[in-house]
Amino acid sequence: MDGLNPRGGWIEVITGGMFSGKSEELIRRIRRAEIARQRTQIFKPAIDNRFNTQRIISRDNRGIDALPVNDSAALRASLTFGVKVVGVDEVQFFDSSIVDVCMEMADAGMRVIVAGLDQDYLRRPFGPMPQLLAVAEYVSKMHAVCVRCGSLAHYTQRVAGGDSQIEIGDVSYEARCRMCYEPYRATSSAESVDEMVETAAEESKGAEEETRGHGDAETRGRGDAVAR
Ligand SMILES: [Zn+2]
Repeated sequence: MDGLNPRGGWIEVITGGMFSGKSEELIRRIRRAEIARQRTQIFKPAIDNRFNTQRIISRDNRGIDALPVNDSAALRASLTFGVKVVGVDEVQFFDSSIVDVCMEMADAGMRVIVAGLDQDYLRRPFGPMPQLLAVAEYVSKMHAVCVRCGSLAHYTQRVAGGDSQIEIGDVSYEARCRMCYEPYRATSSAESVDEMVETAAEESKGAEEETRGHGDAETRGRGDAVAR
């Protein structure tokens, strides 16, 4: 990807479940751009305040400076002149206009690298990710290792906590493969029961495709198994 037309912009998406190394990969690509003396700028949503507000910290403790912004408009307004490579971490938390902002930056000749969760804990596509995956030139689906069986993990299993889509932190989650994924049974709220029923119905539709490429395998058609 580093060797493409240096004048043209494009969008790269790094996605997958938690613990799959998305932030590490984003940091790696940004570092390479910096070695190539390209001007970089990295953003993250202000909502993600774990560890340190000014930095993206990967789980291997390598960090890189990132500017927390409240929404996609704030990101656009914070772009500095002459930036060639723009990184966005935890992009699934942004509003839907982040897609337009990414397109605008790429059209203007910037290399845009976004990293984020593809699905939430109920296996629903997360926020603006479906649109970003569609418009991106390059998609890297990352996989963690299933804590139950050691296969490649495609899902983030919630094992403790509430039933809201956004709960920051790692303690309530595990990486699981398709065989080991179980619908999370949260507290007794009516809404979550409905979601359970919905999820169970979707599961019974079955999912025949197997996406077991290695780390950087390209995303494939996913059918309707995870439709809302
Ligand atoms: Zn498994």
